[in-house]
Amino acid sequence: MRDFTEIGHFVGGRTVAGTSGNTSPVYNPATGQQTGAVALASVEELDAAVAVANAAFQEWRSSSVAKRTEAMFNLRNLVKQNASELAAKITAEHGKVHSDAMGEVARGLENIEFACNIGEMLKGSHSNQVSTGVDVTTIRRPLGVVAGITPFNFPAMVPLWMIPNALGCGNAFILKPSEKDPTSAMFLAELIHEAGFPDGVFNLVNGDKTAVDAILRHPDIKAVSFVGSTPIAQYIHRTASEHGKRVQALGGAKNHMLVLPDADIGLAADAAVSAAFGSAGERCMAISVVVAVGDAADPLVDAIAERTRALTIGDGMDPTSEMGPLVTREARDRVESYIAAGADAGATVVLDGRDTGFDGDGYFLGCTLLDGVTPDMTVYQDEVFGPLLGVVRVPTFDDAIKLLEDNPYGNGTALFTRDGGAARQFTEEAPVGMVGVNVPIPVPVAYHSFGGWKDSIFSDTAMYGPEGVRFYTKPQAITTRWPDPASSSVDLGFPTN
Ligand code: NAD
Repeated sequence: MRDFTEIGHFVGGRTVAGTSGNTSPVYNPATGQQTGAVALASVEELDAAVAVANAAFQEWRSSSVAKRTEAMFNLRNLVKQNASELAAKITAEHGKVHSDAMGEVARGLENIEFACNIGEMLKGSHSNQVSTGVDVTTIRRPLGVVAGITPFNFPAMVPLWMIPNALGCGNAFILKPSEKDPTSAMFLAELIHEAGFPDGVFNLVNGDKTAVDAILRHPDIKAVSFVGSTPIAQYIHRTASEHGKRVQALGGAKNHMLVLPDADIGLAADAAVSAAFGSAGERCMAISVVVAVGDAADPLVDAIAERTRALTIGDGMDPTSEMGPLVTREARDRVESYIAAGADAGATVVLDGRDTGFDGDGYFLGCTLLDGVTPDMTVYQDEVFGPLLGVVRVPTFDDAIKLLEDNPYGNGTALFTRDGGAARQFTEEAPVGMVGVNVPIPVPVAYHSFGGWKDSIFSDTAMYGPEGVRFYTKPQAITTRWPDPASSSVDLGFPTN
């Protein structure tokens, strides 16, 4: 007898079993035990979901803003009421500690709250009497069926970067979550249904590359939002564009935190440890490189090491745990290989996460601190996506900025200093989409928008907030005139005034 759950799809307002016969195992990373088998959709199953979404869109597009807003308010309340349960589902499959998962839910909620005000965002613009008796109004129309393809590391928040604005603007949505931790998104689907969104307006199709490729090629899907690793983001952007879709694709990162000698070293060390090892480093905005300028280096490395040694690592549902396991065995093994590669390349291993000696089959790894990392090392160049922090020592602030310029990624960065002039120079010169001054993880609130630069994004629009509304709508300009038929005549000239 199976002792794990079968996870199907959510289509047309209800859970449906997968019919492809293909599944992927889902594990609890804290125990290494399989807890679920998630259905992997066939092309036919994806097509059927799109047909349901398209039918629902035809009514939803013309539903009143008042009706959409009411459903959004209901969803906001339901997610808030069920936040702890949602967070527990995140922890059970991702591994992050429950308090961190609660933070994820809170940041997702922000996006629902933003969309509760969708009427303001969709107001449009009007010009009166642009010519004699002629007015022009520009309004924003929904696109149709839109899709979201999301990563494992924020299994509830990243879908909520997309869904509220997409639905609020009058679109129907197909979500394809990560096959590693799909249950929290399935729970969100139930809450969206309970909130009063009509059946078929939101659908969730689980799957792998087969489902993703079917999304990218489907003629009735008008736009694709993607968040994940850089190579896949590039693939999604290229393929969806080739198939005539609007696409936003956010990729990976290598986020540098610069520390100037005048910074408060204790404060900077607290921030570095929190931003590097929170969620076991599996955040696209995690700090993975500390750039220590001049004299900051020695005391900073000592302070980071001292704080890191004191961290408690364990099961994410244990309230004393500060850091949980990695998401999969492969992810843990991969991070371990980077520790070895860094040491082989000449970095000083101040703390070795492999030494921690955990019992059991969970995917635990301790925190690693490498000093003397240099840009030629793979541990510097690659996105490691785990609890590994590298310290690069540079003599000057300009050298630190140069590292940012040379890096192919441009998601997030932070500067720690007490010098306002240096901070101003940093915000002016850092070639990065999200910049923090004494803020290590500068994820913008929901009424701004989220997006990196360079290889961290492949699209014109950033995600959520005002840019999200722009992405999920197309403008329509309506010119009106109510002339007196008595003064009408044929005029073949181009209309002017
Ligand atoms: P991933 O790219 O492996 O997977 C993301 C999604 O793409 C999943 O739904 C997956 O099923 C699908 N996918 C994977 N391989 C595919 C393929 N060959 N063809 C088609 N679809 C495919 O990413 P992940 O490991 O789930 O998430 C971690 C990555 O996401 C990191 O690189 C991280 O930096 C990035 N990320 C970026 C942001 C951001 O805002 N820039 C936010 C969160 C995560």
